[in-house]
Amino acid sequence: MRAAMAAPLACALPAWARAATPPADDESMARFIAGLPKAEFHVHLEGTLEAEMKFALAQRNGLSLPYATVEEMKRSYIYHDLPSFLKIYYDGMQVLLTEQDFYDLAYGYLSKAASQNVLYAEMFFDPQEHLKRGVPIEAVIGGITRARADAAKTIGIESQLILCFMRDLSAESAMEALDAALPHKDKLIGVGLDSDEKDNPPEKFAEHFAKARAAGLHVTMHCDVNQENTLEHIRTALVDLQAERIDHGGNIVQSPELMALAKSKGIPFTVCPTFSGKVMEDGHPINALREMLDAGLKVSVNSDDPAYMGSEYITEVLVRAQKDSALTPAELVRIERHAFETAWIPEAQRDGYLAKLEAYAQDWGVTA
Ligand SMILES: [Zn+2]
Repeated sequence: MRAAMAAPLACALPAWARAATPPADDESMARFIAGLPKAEFHVHLEGTLEAEMKFALAQRNGLSLPYATVEEMKRSYIYHDLPSFLKIYYDGMQVLLTEQDFYDLAYGYLSKAASQNVLYAEMFFDPQEHLKRGVPIEAVIGGITRARADAAKTIGIESQLILCFMRDLSAESAMEALDAALPHKDKLIGVGLDSDEKDNPPEKFAEHFAKARAAGLHVTMHCDVNQENTLEHIRTALVDLQAERIDHGGNIVQSPELMALAKSKGIPFTVCPTFSGKVMEDGHPINALREMLDAGLKVSVNSDDPAYMGSEYITEVLVRAQKDSALTPAELVRIERHAFETAWIPEAQRDGYLAKLEAYAQDWGVTA
């Protein structure tokens, strides 16, 4: 005690009293973003399956892959729209067969996220794609849950799990997956909706969402950008299906009425600038993230399917988004505040994350 009191004054000062300089150049901005306490809500676990892990799992499961090397496989990741992306994405997950495979997949993502100061993640998974290959739901949910527990214990990242319905498969197949998963609902926090939106409007799954909600699960859904009838789908999600969150949803900037509705309901939007940042209007791109922020919507920034998007995880995505959308340090803090404020977690946990975020902002002299 006595020794501590005799320490030089500068060390005794709290962090905020030291000279705090908000990031002003690329290098300090990158450091600020890297250290920023973060949450992630829009990441598909199967989309974090890196080529290196695909090879390792294929070998462990005695499967052969159509590529000789990791580099060759990565070079094959060429897509130009949602269907061509999904083909690569679904082909890739064939190597996931056992409980240990799902453990390794989830633990790999959580380690990477924790190394980028993600404190909390809500992760999507696509059970229908695994069930149809004969993988039991227990292996899928069990492996991911075990990884979540180990990651919380050993690397301090908390997480929860969101079951996604694949909208381009039949409604029956989605209901089978939900029914298989409901006995494990204590390991889930919500349900979502992903895959190809064309001709698969959200109301196709109205019954599924109602059943999940009745079981105590939260409800979110993808409204991908630049899809047919996109504003109608956003309206259906918000009004008819009472979605609590929208994944992507960038086209909302084209409807002042829907933006006002989303604001009045406090709906958060999980934007993934890598894939969905550009809303097209009359052949011209609109920066959806910038417009959503300026409109006062609750926006978070997320990595979506990083293994298929140049292995750019949340820090790299935020660094890029900061440049593309001219985000100020205060806006970056606001984005993470929105994320923690809208996480599906108990209040005490939320308060802890928000306190860490505010302390970090103060350390850097960023007031928001
Ligand atoms: Zn997505």
